[in-house]
Amino acid sequence: MMTVRLWGTRGSLAAPGPSTARYGGNTACVEVRGPRDTVLILDAGTGIRPLGASLPVGLRRLDLLLTHLHMDHIQGLGFFAPLYQPGLEVHVWGPASTTLSLRARLMRYLSPPLFPVHLRNLPCRLTLHEVPCGDFAIGPFRIASTLVCHPGPTVAYRIATARASMAYFPDHEPALGAPEFPLAPEWTSGCALAAGVDLLIHDAQYSSEEYPSHLGWGHSSVQHALAFATLAGAKHLVPFHHDPGHADDALDDVIGEAVDAAAPSFAVTPGTEGAVFELDG
Ligand SMILES: [Zn+2]
Ligand SMILES: [Zn+2]
Repeated sequence: MMTVRLWGTRGSLAAPGPSTARYGGNTACVEVRGPRDTVLILDAGTGIRPLGASLPVGLRRLDLLLTHLHMDHIQGLGFFAPLYQPGLEVHVWGPASTTLSLRARLMRYLSPPLFPVHLRNLPCRLTLHEVPCGDFAIGPFRIASTLVCHPGPTVAYRIATARASMAYFPDHEPALGAPEFPLAPEWTSGCALAAGVDLLIHDAQYSSEEYPSHLGWGHSSVQHALAFATLAGAKHLVPFHHDPGHADDALDDVIGEAVDAAAPSFAVTPGTEGAVFELDG
C-alpha cells in the first residue's frame, strides 16, 4: 500500500488567492505514506506546514527527501512543526554539492537574518544524508535517486514497494540541449529512474508558447511532461509545479489542450492541492 497526497503543487513562488484555489497556491510538497505509518515527505515547500499538523500522534521517525534547495522547495522548513518535537527522529535527504555540505547550505536559510532559529538548535533528532548515494530503504520503501537537468545540484526520486512505484520530478528540463526531444530514453535526463512507474509527478510549468522564452530555466512545458512520461512508460502522469502566473482557468486550458493533442495511452491527472492517489499494485 502506498498513499500519495499532494500538499503543494505550485512552482517557483506561492500563489494563494481565489484564482488559484482549485489547483492550489502552496509550493511543492508531497506526502508518501506506507504501511505501519511510514511517512516520507518529498520537498518542503509551503505545503509542508499543514502537512506537519496532520501527522499521526506518536510518530517516532519521518524522512524528508529534498530534490534541491531552491527556495520554493525549502521555504516551509522553518514552519514544519515536527522539527520542534524533542525526540522525533527526522532524516533529511538532499543533493550533494561540490562546494558546500547539505548542512551548510540549509543553514543559509535556517539562521538569522532569514530565519530566527538556527538549524543546530532544532529540538528534533536531526540527521542529514547527501544523495545520490546508491539505493536505500526506508521502512517498506526502496528509494533511488539520480541527478537531473535543472540549475544547481538537483535530484529526482523513485519510490517503490513490492507492489507499487512512483517517481517525483518536480523541477526538470529534459528538453534542454535536445532539439529532437524526446530522443531515445537512454539519452534523456532521468528516464531510467522513471521507467514504468505507476505514478509520475512531473514538472509542467509552461505552455508550449511560453517554453521558448524560458529555455534553460530548468522546467518543462506540459507537452514535454507528456513526452517524457510516454518515453519512460509511466502509467499515470500528474503534471505539477504550476507556474505562479497561471490561474485555474488558464491551467485547465493549457493542460487540457496538450492532453487532447497528445492523446496519451496513460491517465493524466493535473496536480491539485489535496489530491490523493492510492497505489496498491
Ligand atoms: Zn521549483
Ligand atoms: Zn528549482
